[in-house]
Amino acid sequence: MTVRATTRGEERTSLDGARADVIVCGASFAGLAVARELARAGVDADVLVLDRYAIGERATSACAIPTPWLAAMGVEGAARQELPGMAFVTPHGRARYRLPWTWSSFDYRELCALLWEQCGTARFATAVVHGRTGDTVHTDRGDLTAPLVVDACGWRRILGAPHVQPPDAALSRGLEVHPHDTGGTDLDVYLQRDLVRRGYGWSVPAAGERRVGTLSYDPHDHVKEPTRALADRLDVEAVRYQGNWFPHRLREATAGDAFLVGDSAGHCFPLSGEGIRTAFYFGIACGRELAAVLDGRRTRGQALARYTAFHESHRPAFRRAARLQRLIPALPPRVLALLLRMMGVQFLVDRAFGWYLQQAHPSLAAAPPAPSQHPRTHDGPPFEHAPSRR
Ligand SMILES: Cc1cc2nc3c(=O)[nH]c(=O)nc-3n(C[C@H](O)[C@H](O)[C@H](O)COP(=O)(O)OP(=O)(O)OC[C@H]3O[C@@H](n4cnc5c(N)ncnc54)[C@H](O)[C@@H]3O)c2cc1C
Repeated sequence: MTVRATTRGEERTSLDGARADVIVCGASFAGLAVARELARAGVDADVLVLDRYAIGERATSACAIPTPWLAAMGVEGAARQELPGMAFVTPHGRARYRLPWTWSSFDYRELCALLWEQCGTARFATAVVHGRTGDTVHTDRGDLTAPLVVDACGWRRILGAPHVQPPDAALSRGLEVHPHDTGGTDLDVYLQRDLVRRGYGWSVPAAGERRVGTLSYDPHDHVKEPTRALADRLDVEAVRYQGNWFPHRLREATAGDAFLVGDSAGHCFPLSGEGIRTAFYFGIACGRELAAVLDGRRTRGQALARYTAFHESHRPAFRRAARLQRLIPALPPRVLALLLRMMGVQFLVDRAFGWYLQQAHPSLAAAPPAPSQHPRTHDGPPFEHAPSRR
């Protein structure tokens, strides 16, 4: 059951006029990665994180990630199940690959709590962000000001213009169910066009729970019936639904003077729809640029330009994945099944999935941030409803 810890009623006092050095809008994968990186850099800064819900309250995905990223972010404690293999299921057979790395499923609430523990003196408040004018962020609890603003609010790109609107934007849609089930050891991918015309289905075991869902690259196609049908095929209950839109095209890294991170910047990888590790990866890069500004090593303009250059250096890989996203659904199913079998040679699996991990590699997280010249302890009050830091 969803526990609602979001501030409501009288607790929802005005925040109007509040000031911070950095405002991070969105407290999921991308936003928490930015705040964590600022804490790691030890900068002398008041960092305020905003989200419409309490941290970890609303899961946004199947929560499967390359296992090395859990260690790199220091959140192994949230892992539910390590998945040693990945299988592609077509109407013409099943091809199972042993990747050069493994996937792991994790618990969203626990992962967010572990990330927040690493966010040092950052404060948190629940607020719905509506937009921004210059350094001022407009929320349902008033206007807040900071010279450095980050949009990590997901696919809508709240602080960027124009806002993204389905179904005509470059968005995919996904929906999954979470039955209690102990079946499955691998991450299974279903390439079955009678389920989804352009997209795929998945089954992600998570120690006592299974996350079963479908995504469509075509935002006009609905995914509720396909998800139900897949659950039916796998003989699991279609219960506890959860779904969202997510981008499948890299967007701009900035909007005016605001930094965009995660789905907001289109960091979700096309084809796979994998956006958690990329949210971490670009969140870390963004956090490092913000730290350099706060330390006086760079101006805001320089940081915006450097972050944009880093983001743009990944565009070829995103384009390549987008081409495959168009090509694969167009292949005759028998040809696709044959290619998947041929690809199963270990050398090719290692090469393809090695390349894939390389595009947002966990070594970025392991690299130490540049040390701050001015470490300090922020003595302002923590805002409400953050998970306690153990
Ligand atoms: C069904 C489904 C399954 C998926 N499974 C996987 C998977 O297994 N692995 C993977 O890597 N990717 C997966 N993805 C993609 C992944 O969920 C996203 O790419 C990822 O969540 C992006 O992280 P983010 O932090 O940028 O945005 P989000 O996780 O969407 O977080 C945005 C945050 O901003 C907050 N917010 C939004 N609007 C406002 C507002 N106006 N004011 C204040 N706060 C706001 C939200 O409450 C949320 O906390 C899946 C997506 C779907 C839909």
